[in-house]
Amino acid sequence: MKSLDLDVFLCRTDNFGVLVHDPETNLTASIDAPDADAVIKAAERRGWTITHIFTTHHHTDHVEGNLALKEKYDCEIIGPINEAVAIPGLDKTMADGDSFEFGEHTVNVIETPGHTAGHICYHFVDDKVLFAADTLFALGCGRLFERSAADMWHSLQKLAVLPDETAIYFGHEYTLSNARFALTIDPDNERLKSRAADIEAMRAEGKFTIPTTLAMEKETNPFLRAADPSIRRNLLMESRTNEEVFAEIRKRKDNF
Ligand SMILES: [Zn+2]
Repeated sequence: MKSLDLDVFLCRTDNFGVLVHDPETNLTASIDAPDADAVIKAAERRGWTITHIFTTHHHTDHVEGNLALKEKYDCEIIGPINEAVAIPGLDKTMADGDSFEFGEHTVNVIETPGHTAGHICYHFVDDKVLFAADTLFALGCGRLFERSAADMWHSLQKLAVLPDETAIYFGHEYTLSNARFALTIDPDNERLKSRAADIEAMRAEGKFTIPTTLAMEKETNPFLRAADPSIRRNLLMESRTNEEVFAEIRKRKDNF
């Protein structure tokens, strides 16, 4: 099995577009469709034809290009069963635990309610690649629009058990602000301090911070580290549950 080719580009203001191309079958999936023109431009630059859109959730900045891309390519749109009514042009729904083949590549669907009620992530199992959209960001997590902090914490735990080397592609370039916030929660974390310095330098040079790895996030992302003794001490929440610590971190980020 040949490895997938990925093309990452910026759309709108801070959304990432990602194309996933299988060189064996010539299938090309757009992960969400933030902006049809940007997706078409990226595909044409690579000489790829869009055959699929893998929708993660119903927010406009993830689905606005669906119908225009379908019109142009007659591509198949796959998306979350629990947001089916809100996703333009949807052809096939996916629920938690479903899996399907993209060429010879197996894709597992992981439902991660929190940011929205039915958000799904796409895990390319053999390739060790996860498309986490607005559930897990580099050093951050999605805002809680439709589900509780406890729900989001449990969703993040479903991602945290994937292999450490999993490459994570996320929905927005929010990493610099996330890094500055993370330092307020986990100020003694040496790995975080050095990563934050790297991120300051990358963003100053206009470089994207995508992808990250699960190992890196487990070491530095406060939203995966609610059980960490040093963070709990810092928040004066040593005897509280992980869900409560996570909720406090999320609340602080909303006001950061
Ligand atoms: Zn969103």
